Amino acid sequence: MTTIIQVSVPCPLRFNFDYLNNNEAHSWQIGQRVLVPFGSRQLIGIIISIRQSSEDDNLAKLKPIIECLDEKPLLDEDLLSLSHWLSAYYHHPLGDCFQAVLPKKLRQGEQAQLETETIWQLSSSQEKSTLGSKQQQIIDLLQQYPLGLSQTELYKKIGSCKPSLNSLEEKKRLSQSQQIKQQPISTNLSEPCNLNDEQQDAVESVWKSAQQFMPFLLQGITGSGKTEVYIELTERMVKQGKQVLILIPEIGLTSQFVSRFRQRVAAYISVLNSSISDRERKQSWLLAKEGLANIIIGTRSAVFTPLKNIGLIIIDEEHDGSYKQQDGLRYHARNIALIRAQRAKIPIILGSATPSLESLYKVEQERYKLLELTYRATGAKLPKVHLVDSTGPKAANGVSSILYRAIAEQLDRENQVLLFINRRGFAPVLMCHECNWQASCSHCDAKMIVHQRKNTLCCHHCGLIQRLPTQCPKCQTNDLNTYGAGTEQIELSLQAYFPDTTVLRIDRDSTQKVNAFADMVTNIQQGGAKILVGTQMLAKGHDFHNVTLVGVLDADQGLLSADFRASETLAQLIIQVTGRAGRGEKSGEVYIQTSQPQHPFWQDLINQPYRVIANKLLKERETISMPPVGSLCVIRAEDQQEQLAIQFLSDVAALLIQHNQQQVLVLGPVPAIMEKRAGRYRAQLLLSCPTRKPIHQLLDHYIDIISAQKLAKKVRWSIDIDPLDLL
Ligand code: ADP
Ligand code: ZN
Ligand code: ZN
Repeated sequence: MTTIIQVSVPCPLRFNFDYLNNNEAHSWQIGQRVLVPFGSRQLIGIIISIRQSSEDDNLAKLKPIIECLDEKPLLDEDLLSLSHWLSAYYHHPLGDCFQAVLPKKLRQGEQAQLETETIWQLSSSQEKSTLGSKQQQIIDLLQQYPLGLSQTELYKKIGSCKPSLNSLEEKKRLSQSQQIKQQPISTNLSEPCNLNDEQQDAVESVWKSAQQFMPFLLQGITGSGKTEVYIELTERMVKQGKQVLILIPEIGLTSQFVSRFRQRVAAYISVLNSSISDRERKQSWLLAKEGLANIIIGTRSAVFTPLKNIGLIIIDEEHDGSYKQQDGLRYHARNIALIRAQRAKIPIILGSATPSLESLYKVEQERYKLLELTYRATGAKLPKVHLVDSTGPKAANGVSSILYRAIAEQLDRENQVLLFINRRGFAPVLMCHECNWQASCSHCDAKMIVHQRKNTLCCHHCGLIQRLPTQCPKCQTNDLNTYGAGTEQIELSLQAYFPDTTVLRIDRDSTQKVNAFADMVTNIQQGGAKILVGTQMLAKGHDFHNVTLVGVLDADQGLLSADFRASETLAQLIIQVTGRAGRGEKSGEVYIQTSQPQHPFWQDLINQPYRVIANKLLKERETISMPPVGSLCVIRAEDQQEQLAIQFLSDVAALLIQHNQQQVLVLGPVPAIMEKRAGRYRAQLLLSCPTRKPIHQLLDHYIDIISAQKLAKKVRWSIDIDPLDLL
């Protein structure tokens, strides 16, 4: 008998491959990485089962494994079974799910070993000896670090000084050791704050369920002190030797958030987001796996972090769309976090000022427990909200006279102003007055956006960049005009109105450089910039104490969207942005510019609490059986040839309809709203059902048949379970 090892390899195929054991003496275990021959290539795969051969096996056809990369399984049982669950739930190839779960360096086959670094420490006995000035400097410095200081940090502080270190070591004044590389625990912690009654209640409710699976929805208005609740619970967990996983939506928020935890909790904190290097990511991942990191703070993909001893999961801004992966394995991090909490039998907190309808629905069904924080912890009042008719008099393109006066008034009082517009660039339209020519992208069904500063036209969908024309390419006149306004234009026109004030633009263009965003946040916090013009990057979570006025410039955009979630997302966004005003001692004001101030949506938004609006929306979803009440799946396809995507999806639809005895509605296929993007024609097929299960059963049954279609190998296609947007 021979041992046969089944391996999942990173490839789009939906089955696993058998290999022969190349070394009887090796201790083969599920979850180890192996290097295997695959066609003409070699791939790194994961062992998913091990069995003894039987008569049915055609051993002659099997190839031996080339090499096993791990002594111990790299994936623990938790992550293994989670990967299987991902593959089953999202109908995604298992090998690809492992790719999503592992950090890049480990996917590429690096040793799963923690990096160490040299730590210098004062010796306990300090025999007096004459020291050079550099040596004395080192001794003085290390006196502040009783636990030692890494060589890298030491060099950063006083420059390289290896000879001095060596001679101090010879004199037995210092000792060096190799320690696992990790951000040290902060030693000067700031005072904890006294939680108010609501915060205290929230903490105790969660703490009472510390040993069981229990989802909590922590709904607290902006500035109500949700983060303090997280900190208190995290501290308690860490004291008990448990790990806490905290997910936050945007990388931009990480540093602010992490530093609050560092200041308050004596713990090892690992950060996992896309701004860290692959090497750091691997280290953080391994630290968490070994239980050496107490707190793991990260964005979406951090939900896959292995945790030896997990006690609590927290998802901040749980309604945020960035928790959903929009390509490849289209998972929702909130969903996965819930599964992990359930399996680990621990509590999970979903925090938000504007919870998703998904979570509110679960509260309604009594599957989540609701915890509420109803007032601002600092005593600050929520800002007063005004609706401004954007068709009225204007001071500048995109800024009404009323808003302009309000800005001037706040600047007079030395306050900061935040203007929010969800459109990058100078203007969304470039048009010829003479012949009506419009600049549009040749690869997409989209207009080219004017970026004046770079003197370009840019397509925000495929990235195509062209020189800004000075003449109409069609009729050669010079009568080109821009219409509408983006961040760049607002920045320029406000700068012209307020020449002595610093205007800061914060969008994807202005924050491309590493640290640019963090630097801007510091600039804002120190009060340097007075007018902040930004996209939704600026809407979330930030705590800018001196912002007293928030203006929303293009509020209508969201209302015009055809997406069934448009009202929900817009309400959440506006309330989040609104929450940026008046967080300090001064009270705040909000101006929303809209062409339809009488629209029931706006009237509700300024007159009703979020819960009332959300309940209304939930009722609507109920009547049309849309999520979170009903269940959806989108099958998307795209191809360079115009009809192929539609044709493939029609074949799929025909298959599904033929055998669908359940109540699954198969709708379409239809071309995507933006049919052509980046040179590909796109289409989609919608599956809808009042309950979740039939959709999954249908896909389970047909996925292999669909994958085997001739066109399935030609067009790009994907399955999106619980899609966030249908456009
Ligand atoms: P949220 O996360 O709900 O937006 P934060 O936790 O950031 O709210 O709190 C908002 C502000 O209120 C912060 O400046 C925080 O330090 C302060 N704060 C929170 N809780 C308290 C409290 N119990 N007493 C005093 N200040 C508090
Ligand atoms: Zn023209
Ligand atoms: Zn384009």
